Amino acid sequence: MSIATVNPATGETLRTFEAMDGEEIERRLQLAEATFRTYRTTSFAERAQRMRRAAGLLDDDQQEIARTITCEMGKPIAQARAEAAKCAKAMRWYAEHAEELLADEEPAAADVKDSGAVRALVRYRPLGPVLAVMPWNFPLWQVVRFAAPALMAGNVGLLKHASNVPQTALYLEDLFHRAGFAEGCFQTLLIGSDAVDEILRDERVRAATLTGSEPAGRAVASTAGEMVKKTVLELGGSDPFVVMPSADLDRAARVAVTARVQNNGQSCIAAKRFIVHTDVYDAFTERFVAGMRALRMGDPMEEDTDVGPLSSERARADLEELVDDARRSGAQVLCGGERPEGPGWYYPPTVIAGVTREMRIHREEAFGPVATLYRARDLDEAVLLADDTPFGLSSNVWTRDEEEIDRFVRDLEAGGVYVNGMTASHPAFPFGGVKRSGYGRELSGHGIREFCNITTVWHG
Ligand code: NAP
Repeated sequence: MSIATVNPATGETLRTFEAMDGEEIERRLQLAEATFRTYRTTSFAERAQRMRRAAGLLDDDQQEIARTITCEMGKPIAQARAEAAKCAKAMRWYAEHAEELLADEEPAAADVKDSGAVRALVRYRPLGPVLAVMPWNFPLWQVVRFAAPALMAGNVGLLKHASNVPQTALYLEDLFHRAGFAEGCFQTLLIGSDAVDEILRDERVRAATLTGSEPAGRAVASTAGEMVKKTVLELGGSDPFVVMPSADLDRAARVAVTARVQNNGQSCIAAKRFIVHTDVYDAFTERFVAGMRALRMGDPMEEDTDVGPLSSERARADLEELVDDARRSGAQVLCGGERPEGPGWYYPPTVIAGVTREMRIHREEAFGPVATLYRARDLDEAVLLADDTPFGLSSNVWTRDEEEIDRFVRDLEAGGVYVNGMTASHPAFPFGGVKRSGYGRELSGHGIREFCNITTVWHG
């Protein structure tokens, strides 16, 4: 895949970039290692000052970087601005909290005595250069969610961004430099995915994080496994959105629409499978389909566009194949389901009912604005359907019944259970999945500690 900005709304190639050669990659690896040696000794206060400056610069640049994002991957411009704002917030959050999250821990006095120590503590020390392999769907957020805690912990970052968002990738490098971080603290490697393996094998790279598809995660994790390096994987999702009879149906249906089509439907934590109790199935479906039909699909640069194009021609073809497979096998398409004429990689908001276990869309992730509807007889069947997926990123449940809530929180196989609301990440809460959605956590104290050397300090 060439490294280029191709506007998904028109299919036009706007800029192409040469991949960095071996010499340039070597220079950057050397710089990362050398910078880490001194950067690791900087104080939290120094790091926080730079991180806050980066947040301020990002706020100043919001309009401009939002246009770049929309141009590179097609999300509606208002959502691109919101993404930039969310990144600035996460940067400030880590600037404020990193020191307390990584403060020395004192084991209980009785345990210290029992170990024969006069004093003992646990210290979180940085690991070194971390390679971040990132996707295009939230091209700022996915990177900042890694970079803010990593830099605050004293690590340095090497970014291999998706090949279709090179301008956003270069912007991020520039942003951290302008904020006062040394050149080697955060570097963008303009490389294709074929160059990742060798870099990951380099002894100077201490760990890796990947957000993206399962095949990419598997490739990075197996090399890292061979090299005995820590990894965090944030992979795909097919989150359930369960609606029970006591739910506020109007609100559930409204939120369901947003939860499915945010980011043109290309979000790992988008609700994708809508599991509705039979008593409210018809009432919910009517509201949900009406909401999906009412969305405005069009030019993502327009302020009132709800749904823009998919990120690439391949992405649209993949989604279309999933819908066609379901239709051929007897599913009903309640709205959408046909690509529009004209330029750009648009695909309309689509709702599919009558999905069975044999259909590909039941087991695979629909990465676009396509929702599947399931009818559940009762709570047990709702839980079974919700967990009947290889993925386990997050989940949404709509009910006012406390016993049902307890049951969902106990039994849903996912890294999040959102009750009467849609999944959204927040810097203070851990984010990540189970099953084939990956492992490890980002954000919160859990995220910042992933790339730390958790060190026991024992005094005899
Ligand atoms: P992708 O193809 O896996 O690309 C993600 C990144 O991995 C890109 O930088 C890509 O580089 C690189 N890559 C691809 N194959 C690789 C390989 N064999 N070795 C090393 N690097 C490789 O992902 P995508 O399909 O564009 O993105 C969508 C996927 O990401 C969906 O499944 C979505 O659910 C998931 N996602 C997960 C989260 C989460 O937090 N869990 C968040 C967002 C997205 P190139 O661009 O150069 O190929």
